[in-house]
Parts: sequence; C-alpha cells; structure tokens
Amino acid sequence: MAKGAGVSESRQRDRRLAMVRRQVESRGISDRRVLAAMRSVPRHRFVSVRHADQAYEDHPLPIAADQTISQPYIVALMADAAAIHPDHRVLEVGTGSGYGAAVLAHLGASVITVERHRVLADRAAQVLDDLGYHNVTVVTGDGSQGHPPGAPYDAVVVTAAADGIPPALVDQLADGGRLVIPVGSTAGAQELTLVHRRGDATTTRPLGPVRFVPLVEDS
Ligand code: SAH
Repeated sequence: MAKGAGVSESRQRDRRLAMVRRQVESRGISDRRVLAAMRSVPRHRFVSVRHADQAYEDHPLPIAADQTISQPYIVALMADAAAIHPDHRVLEVGTGSGYGAAVLAHLGASVITVERHRVLADRAAQVLDDLGYHNVTVVTGDGSQGHPPGAPYDAVVVTAAADGIPPALVDQLADGGRLVIPVGSTAGAQELTLVHRRGDATTTRPLGPVRFVPLVEDS
C-alpha cells in the first residue's frame, strides 16, 4: 500500500461486507440483488479521503455543498422498496455523492440521476465513470418536477425531503411503477413513503421515519 493511501481496498471490502451483515441484513432487508449491490458498491470512493475511514459506519457523512451521503441502510431500504428489476428504467432525484445511483445502477437497466449542485453532479459523474457504471446519466438541474425526457420510469427514488408527493413524479411513473420519497418538513418528522402506481390509481404506504436534506425547488 502506498504511503498515505489510507486503509487498503481489501480492508474496506471487509468493512463493507460486515456493514451489509450488521446494518442491512440484520434489519430485515433480504432481497438478494439489493444485498449483492450493497456488497459491491465501494461507498468509500464516494466520500472525501478525510471520511473514507468512516465510509462503512452506520450514519450519513458530509459531502460538498453542505449535503450528505445517506446512511447505507437507508440506501438499501429505498432500493428494496423501489423493487427494481434488471430491465427497469430508474430516475433518482438528488445525486449527491452518486453512491445511491451506483446501487440503483446495479439493479436496473438504466438510471438517470438529477442533482441541482453542479459541483456534486460533476464529481458524481466522474466517480461513477471511474468505477465503470456506464448505465447512469447524471443531469445537472432541478429534479423536483422529475425529468420528463426520460419518462416513463419503472422506479423513481427521491433522496431529499418534499412537503408532499409531487404530482409530476407520479405522472412520470410507468404503469406498475414505484416512487420512494421522504415526505415531511426538514425540521420535523419525515416519513419515507412508497407510492405504487397501477393504471391511473395509486396506493401509498409509509415505510418509517427518516431524516433527509430538503428537496429544493429552483423553478
Ligand atoms: N443519494 C445521495 C444522497 C444525496 S443528499 C447519495 O447517495 O449521496 C440529497 C441531494 O439532493 C443533495 O445533493 C441535494 O443537493 C439534492 N437536491 C435537493 N433538491 C434537489 C432538486 N430539486 N433537484 C435535484 N437535486 C436536489
């Protein structure tokens, strides 16, 4: 290992496998493909060198532009709820570090991820490219109203908290599609919410309390 390179890749891999056992499987996520994605994606590559040593701990970490990379378990929970199949088209709103997009890219055929901070979008695109995730497109802009050019989506995953369920995101779901989104104010309680579309009807199910940065509307 080069001097100053930090902990080795094999040590990070061991930590990652332990993270999946202790934080993800033990909390009830059992989908084999979700677990495989969580075992595969190197979360330490999506955080700064300063935070790489904490990459597999059970909490969010700061990234640039005052944003955060989500807790690993929450990324797994959202991916699991989205029920992504290998032929699915997926939209993520809130790229942040790009970690969640990489997990989604393991599960679906193609992922479009939208981030309003250019510095984050550019960095995420670079890391995803370096790691060989070529089925992800990073778009810089406001994704609060989705991304109509790529619709319909089989799954939409929003990684920032909205006041309510944005109708535009439901409109962009395919028949049978699922939207996973934290709903509630930033200061108060947020509920991770699953919206399942069947035809023009939707069913909504709460998945538990979460804490996310706000979904900011630029337009
Ligand atoms: N999935 C990310 C977590 C990102 S945190 C990861 O794995 O790292 C939420 C992100 O949503 C932040 O980067 C924030 O800038 C972004 N965001 C907030 N409102 C947005 C909007 N309207 N459109 C696109 N991105 C938005």
